[in-house]
Amino acid sequence: MIESSPRIASAAQVVAELRRRSAFVMVSHVKPDGDTLGAGFALGLALKRLGKRVAYFQQDAVPRNLRFLPESELVSRAIPGDLPPDTLYVFCDMSDWRRAGEHLPAVARENMLDIDHHLGNSLFGKLNFVLEHECSTGTVVMHLLRELGVPIDAPIATCILATIMTDTGGFMHSNTTPEALDLAAELMRQGADKEEITDQIFLRKRVAATKLLGCIIDAMKFEHAGRYCYSYVDDAMLEATGADGEDTEDVVNTLLGQEGVDVAALFKAIDGEIRVSLRSGGRLNVQAAAQRLGGGGHFRASGLTYHGTLQDAFPAVEAALVAEGL
Ligand code: AMP
Ligand code: MN
Ligand code: MN
Repeated sequence: MIESSPRIASAAQVVAELRRRSAFVMVSHVKPDGDTLGAGFALGLALKRLGKRVAYFQQDAVPRNLRFLPESELVSRAIPGDLPPDTLYVFCDMSDWRRAGEHLPAVARENMLDIDHHLGNSLFGKLNFVLEHECSTGTVVMHLLRELGVPIDAPIATCILATIMTDTGGFMHSNTTPEALDLAAELMRQGADKEEITDQIFLRKRVAATKLLGCIIDAMKFEHAGRYCYSYVDDAMLEATGADGEDTEDVVNTLLGQEGVDVAALFKAIDGEIRVSLRSGGRLNVQAAAQRLGGGGHFRASGLTYHGTLQDAFPAVEAALVAEGL
């Protein structure tokens, strides 16, 4: 188990490092979700309570449905020019620093802290606080907040609960442990706004998004005796429905939810890039399949960027899944 490896820092070691530094840049992964942002915001808020300076780097825009998160308006692609040389860059929810995108300036390993819960994290930081069995990076951060002794106020509680609800699919995925539910209850008592999180991340849909869902469902294909379902979305579908890439985020779960389906893939050919989302019902490891094509993630949820055409991406992904037992 990776938690017992000496290459994984203890919460006490990480907190000693946090106390030693005066300035921080919280770094989230490209196409951010509620976990990468919520985890960084929660830790950022806690560090500010301790009088530290905090900036938030994200190369893409914050998705519409996450703009309710405290601190989201402070996110920027630009890093303040007057930060001290020993500024600590805190990478949340990514198995490698490259997932921060090409706009992040070079950072020395000495100034990298890696906080994550992905399988196969490359342990790229000076300190790596990687707990693979946690349901979200936010719950990993929670260990640090406890060690820091910072009171969990309502904004911090909302950020952490948003990470849990994002990565458990609103308490539906198999990573919804009793511990995750206990923590969620505790966070609600501390003022986390569960209503707002539910509404923004799960319930409210743009009409254009629902129309796009219709197109993607129309294009569904079933292979391997109906155990593999895949579909795609391209620029033309977005154009036709008025939707955008943000409206495709959880559609892959609808594919996985079809009767008899074990594995689902959604191919997103948008803006000259092909990003593939993979989901598994639990029999097949889609993290291993994604890794074969340069991606990564978790056992049941993974992703990759395919370099080539959409027509080539379909068989390439299928072959990777077959190699993992599809
Ligand atoms: P998504 O399908 O985009 O929701 O991503 C599912 C999981 O796969 C998340 O844990 C992502 O961090 C991970 N993931 C997605 N794309 C990539 C990629 N290109 N490289 C590594 N991990 C990825
Ligand atoms: Mn994420
Ligand atoms: Mn995560």
